[in-house]
Amino acid sequence: MTTAPVTMRAAVFHGAGRIAPGDWPRPSAGPGELLLRVRGCGLCGSDIAKIVAAETRGPAVFGHEVVGDVVEAGAGVTAFGVGDRVVAAHHVPCGDCHYCRRGSASMCRTFKASHLDPGGFADYVRVPPANVCHATFRVPDHLSDEEASFVEPLACCLRAVDRARVEPGDTAVVVGLGSIGCLFTQLLARAGAAVVGADPLSGRAALAREHGARDAGDAETAAMAARELSEGRGADHVIVTGGGADVLPWATALTRDGGTIHYFAGGPGDALPLPLATLYHHELTITTTYSSSPATLARAFWLLAAGKVEVARLITHRLPLERLAEGVDLMRRREALKVYVTP
Ligand SMILES: [Zn+2]
Ligand SMILES: [Zn+2]
Repeated sequence: MTTAPVTMRAAVFHGAGRIAPGDWPRPSAGPGELLLRVRGCGLCGSDIAKIVAAETRGPAVFGHEVVGDVVEAGAGVTAFGVGDRVVAAHHVPCGDCHYCRRGSASMCRTFKASHLDPGGFADYVRVPPANVCHATFRVPDHLSDEEASFVEPLACCLRAVDRARVEPGDTAVVVGLGSIGCLFTQLLARAGAAVVGADPLSGRAALAREHGARDAGDAETAAMAARELSEGRGADHVIVTGGGADVLPWATALTRDGGTIHYFAGGPGDALPLPLATLYHHELTITTTYSSSPATLARAFWLLAAGKVEVARLITHRLPLERLAEGVDLMRRREALKVYVTP
């Protein structure tokens, strides 16, 4: 006699942009692992990129900005117990390889292979042992679930600010003022930079000003402000959070000689529209950041717990699991800054 497998509810991706509520095998906690009952999970731009990409195969369950309650703690877990409210990130590097030793934690082969099982858009997730040790944090009572869900996105932004080598006195332009753009605005201001935001939506520009941007507006307004704040030199940094390769000529024209253009997101564009002579003669640097690291996750958790970064106004839409597809549309249409999904 066989017993039926235990299932749970999940928002299941079936390929070709299609997501529908369905059943998924319910995981359980093995040695060193945790099983969380999901309280909520943020919808990230990178989830949407995977959902709309033609090459992404289903079935799959996404979601990696997960807050949940521990309902099972596997043998040997001492740091967490049943009933703890935690936030857990999905990727963990080995800490020991050539990539890890040189600061490329997110390029570590272990990092790319590690993940929560199945993902936060489900009733339950299993947190593997390495994630329990290096990427799980007990949420203090004063922090809401929604605030705690920002640990991972904030950690990615922190890593980008590190990699861009922002210094006090710099002028930094943030392109795209969604939730990520507003996190960057705050972190860059904390790093001592004068921040300018660029976004065609005036409501988003206003929000960036409330989050510490010296000025924000459409492309023209941002370009003027950056020149003014830098005494005509141009921005030391242009951080691109959306728009793809097409943004590069504008960003280049805005960057001072010797400055940096930092791509925080991928997007459309098979080649970078930038003459080599411009790159070379103006000694420009193009850098990128993909994902976070255990060190930046820990710093992000601390910043949120200490109230140093404000995230309360960044979630504009709350949807149940069953309506994830609607959340994807809201963010793609740029109607939602950030969608938070609850089982
Ligand atoms: Zn994310
Ligand atoms: Zn490694």
